[in-house]
Amino acid sequence: MSGALLRILHVEDDPQDRELAQATLAADGLQCRVQCVDARGEFEAALLGETFDIILADYSLPRFDGLTAQAIARRLAPQTPFIFLSATLGEELAIDRLKEGATDYVLKQRIGRLPAAVRRARREASERAERQRAEEDVRRLNAELEARVADRSAALAAAHDTLASREQQWRESDQLLRAILDHSPMAMIVKDLEDRYLLISRQAELFLAKPRDAIIGRTSAEIVAPRIADIYRAHDREVIRTKLPAQFEEPFFGPGGLGVLASTRFPLLDDTGAVYAVCCVSTEITARKKSEDEVQLARLEAERANLAKSEFLSRMSHDLRTPLNAILGFAQVLELEPLEADHLDNVRQILSGGRHLLNLINEVLDITRIESGHLSLSTEPVAVADVIEQTVSLIKPLAAQRGITIEVPPIAHEEAVLSDRQRLTQILINLLSNAVKYNRIGGRVTIAFAPGSRARRQPSRLTVSDTGAGISPESLKLLFQPFERLGAEQTATEGTGLGLALSRALAQAMGGRLGVDSVIDQGSAFWIELPAADAPSTAAADLEPAATPAARAIATRGTVLYVEDNMANVRLIERILKRRPGVELVHAPQGTVALALVRERRPNAILLDLHLPDMTGDEVLRHLWADPDTRTIPAVVVTADATPGIARRLQASGATACLTKPLDVGDVLRVVDELLGAPAGSEKHV
Ligand code: ADP
Repeated sequence: MSGALLRILHVEDDPQDRELAQATLAADGLQCRVQCVDARGEFEAALLGETFDIILADYSLPRFDGLTAQAIARRLAPQTPFIFLSATLGEELAIDRLKEGATDYVLKQRIGRLPAAVRRARREASERAERQRAEEDVRRLNAELEARVADRSAALAAAHDTLASREQQWRESDQLLRAILDHSPMAMIVKDLEDRYLLISRQAELFLAKPRDAIIGRTSAEIVAPRIADIYRAHDREVIRTKLPAQFEEPFFGPGGLGVLASTRFPLLDDTGAVYAVCCVSTEITARKKSEDEVQLARLEAERANLAKSEFLSRMSHDLRTPLNAILGFAQVLELEPLEADHLDNVRQILSGGRHLLNLINEVLDITRIESGHLSLSTEPVAVADVIEQTVSLIKPLAAQRGITIEVPPIAHEEAVLSDRQRLTQILINLLSNAVKYNRIGGRVTIAFAPGSRARRQPSRLTVSDTGAGISPESLKLLFQPFERLGAEQTATEGTGLGLALSRALAQAMGGRLGVDSVIDQGSAFWIELPAADAPSTAAADLEPAATPAARAIATRGTVLYVEDNMANVRLIERILKRRPGVELVHAPQGTVALALVRERRPNAILLDLHLPDMTGDEVLRHLWADPDTRTIPAVVVTADATPGIARRLQASGATACLTKPLDVGDVLRVVDELLGAPAGSEKHV
């Protein structure tokens, strides 16, 4: 410190004293720069101008005084040591000054003490400054510490808050989970990978038939029947393997017995994507399953019943036609004999009755087939002009008998409707025969055709108008009901009351409509609407000139094998073929006999009944087809089950043609003529 230059402010008016002080300090080795002032203004200016290490002040000066100087110094430079250097300061006064904060006092008369006083004051000041700095450091450190503590406390408080709110959240979500588990109608289960139950809902207790305490921590094998546990395990394994949710139908054995659950099992994955548990949510579907099973059972039952119905239809068709075959067949044969007029009339009565019965059977069967959905239709573009021509030619004789004219407009061959040709013909025959039957003598039947448009989905309309009595509005309501003849049953006009009901059902089955407009005393107009179609491909017409019946009878020669177990039918065919003297008839009562005879006699044609005692006609056809030697022999199926479906099936198995019982004599002769060499052609009256 002695080396440092001391800056001293000396309040002193006496130049000698000033010098003495400086000399004394210098003599003691204190390097000083002393600024001397003797007035208040100078003193203040000096203190404000720079910092001093020591202030020395005389007590009384002419223009200033040490007391005031001390007060000013305390205000402007409180850290700077203040030493009174005076000749006048008494002991008491000095103590007062020291109490007021003066550092020391030195009497001028003992100035030799000044250096020591300065040194001490200087040391004390520097110690004080040091202490203050240390205190400052401590204060700062304290403050820092306090700040840090405050920060930590705040952080702790925040952490505590978070923890508390987390705890609250956890408590809430736990309560939520419990509420869901306890009140959900679903059964919920969580199992670990060792199949131990970790969590279950109340509903699951029911499905596992045990209280929760008896389930948690146990495996399914310990809780449910082994077979059921195996199923649950297998389903869990699948979910664990695929890591995907999956739906299952699972059994359970609850208080009500064995039930069915619809379960969704899904894996629970940890942060790394590994499966750590399986969750299963189930609802009971026992009742639903039961009703589904019942519906399925009812459907099977209905299908069975339907099958039984169509089998019954087939049997009916067969059983009713077989005796009719004998009645109509022999009556037709008789009709061809030279008979006396009244006998011929009797035969025709039999024929008429038989045909009426046949008609009735056919129509009833058709209606039943439509109702049961067993009507098989083959819809195709059908040329309207062709069908009209064919039906008009059939009805014309009946019309002629009653002096009724049938007017047919010219219709282009291209005009076609989408329908089943056979069924459309059947409808048109019905409408035309009604228009003739219920017309007045000498009346008129007019056919009209309004083509539709395929593009605009506008149907084509075919109308048959008559000039009959017309139908009253009340009767119109009953017109299409089966067996409803509207009083015609009391007249001589024959009918079954089924024609219109069947015609309408057929039209609808073909996607069309059938209706009527009628005016009493003016006549009725029956119409049928069907989808318009593109022109049908022109079937190659049979251009061969028709041979005369006599020429055909002579040209037809060869052997015909008739496979049939019903002897009445065999005799009928014998009688029919008597009209073909060149034809030899060979008879086989069974399928096996037939196959042997085919090889032995090499017939030119085979007539085959479908119901044989030892095998079905289908089997006989298959055997014939399998052998290249017999495959080429034409086989004609003769059947009473004349559904179009059966006819198509038989032709697919190799049958050449199909003849329907009751047999039409003309049809039999035509088919035999075609197969045994004579030119084809229709022959109704041989
Ligand atoms: P069916 O002619 O066999 O009696 P339909 O079902 O064809 O049976 O006709 C039912 C009834 O409708 C007939 O009995 C007849 O009374 C009446 N009917 C049908 N067509 C005409 C018609 N064109 N004019 C007047 N009445 C008709």
